[in-house]
Amino acid sequence: MKKPSLPVQIIMGLILGILWALLSSSMGWSDFTIDWIAPFGTIFINLLKLIAIPLVLFSIIAGIGNLSDTATLGRMGVKTLALYIGSTILAAAMGMFIANTFNPGKQASEEQLKINRLAYELWVNDSEGVEYFDDVRLLNDPNMASYLTDAQSALAEQQSNEELNAKMSVLKNKKETGPLQFFVDMVPSNIFLSFNDSLMLQVIFFAIFFGIVMVMLPNAQMQPVAAVINGFSDIFIKMVDVVMKGAPFFVFALLAGKLAEMAGDEPGRLVEIFKALGAYTGYTILGLLIMILLLYPAVIAFLVHRKTNMGYWKSWGYFMRGIRPAQLLAFSTSSTAATLPVTMDCVRDNLGVDEEIGSFVLPVGATINMDGTALYQTVAVIFMAQFHMIDLSLGQQATIILMATLGSIGAASVPSAGMIMLIPILESVGLNPAWIAIIFPVDRIIDMVRTVLNLTGDASVSTIIALSEDKFKVVDQEEL
Ligand code: ASP
Repeated sequence: MKKPSLPVQIIMGLILGILWALLSSSMGWSDFTIDWIAPFGTIFINLLKLIAIPLVLFSIIAGIGNLSDTATLGRMGVKTLALYIGSTILAAAMGMFIANTFNPGKQASEEQLKINRLAYELWVNDSEGVEYFDDVRLLNDPNMASYLTDAQSALAEQQSNEELNAKMSVLKNKKETGPLQFFVDMVPSNIFLSFNDSLMLQVIFFAIFFGIVMVMLPNAQMQPVAAVINGFSDIFIKMVDVVMKGAPFFVFALLAGKLAEMAGDEPGRLVEIFKALGAYTGYTILGLLIMILLLYPAVIAFLVHRKTNMGYWKSWGYFMRGIRPAQLLAFSTSSTAATLPVTMDCVRDNLGVDEEIGSFVLPVGATINMDGTALYQTVAVIFMAQFHMIDLSLGQQATIILMATLGSIGAASVPSAGMIMLIPILESVGLNPAWIAIIFPVDRIIDMVRTVLNLTGDASVSTIIALSEDKFKVVDQEEL
């Protein structure tokens, strides 16, 4: 029998991981799973991260070295940023559409909603500088007195949530920043510190600077340097292939470990978590899937067909099949940064996007373009407002779209980063940041799916740019 292809093997690893987690928690083996299986998942993520920084460094320098002129680079940079910002706004708008169509926050019992509303009003009264969103005042309604004690304890519980307070203090410790801080942070003062701390944008800046100066020097003088850099780039590209050989097992270990951690020794706990937040989780995932399976692939299918005459369906399949390994990995790791080496591999080898484009567009995207995160943040904020009986006007929702766009750019490409960025978003629009405690329990699952969209957005933008620059070549996907 023919050995199944790598993506099929990874899917098998994924399913086995879920089955193992269910079995291990119902048999009381969670500690065994966490001690003896989960560490292989961590090793896998470490291996991918180990490759990511040098791979980005050498492949950007090698890519720029091959560019005929630096004007191309400028044009590509402008297109990349425009598409990244445009696609993030689109995703956030999709989140707003989903939240307003399905109203996940209004599906709780009336009693629960009233308690939540009272808790919100108590919080506004206690907080300096925060104003009401509307004219409703349940606190003044004598019929509500019976709910007041519940509301007070709900508020106290939210505010004292330890996990939340830990996250808030991490944010508070960050220095106050001015409007140009983003650009200041991009320019490293010591490149070794940037490597040390995996500061991707600084490494990208350094690589572009290095590459441009290489192009400015005489070709003959630079030849040996270029040969060495191309060689290094090839080594790191090959490393991705080698690590990916173990992906099916590693993915099994990752999922088994994560789910065992969530479920402990009672599998029923997972079901309970989802029942309470089912509508919110389900509709957020629905919005993410619409973008992952329909919207982006449809745009790419249209453009690929126009260029190659492949047919719409075939082009759709070509794109989806090409990036599947990276999508599966994003799902398993919840980190676009860890998935980056594989994304670069898939976009180059399976989609036929030129190395020059992928090596530049994808690392930038992994750092700043998070469409899944923006969509999720918009749904989450509107859900939480609905859950506290706050009706947001269109203008207020537009502000949330803007804030989610910025919040997603600021989020790191690691698990849960998008949720932490909800704190400043809620604060900036005058809602209670402690509300994120409500969605903690289901965040990991949503994180897995939103990370898939984050990566799909990056892959789509790099394909669009390659098509527009005539740097796209259909490859044979026979092996996939
Ligand atoms: N985990 C996401 C990523 O790495 C970020 C997020 O938490 O939304 O892309």
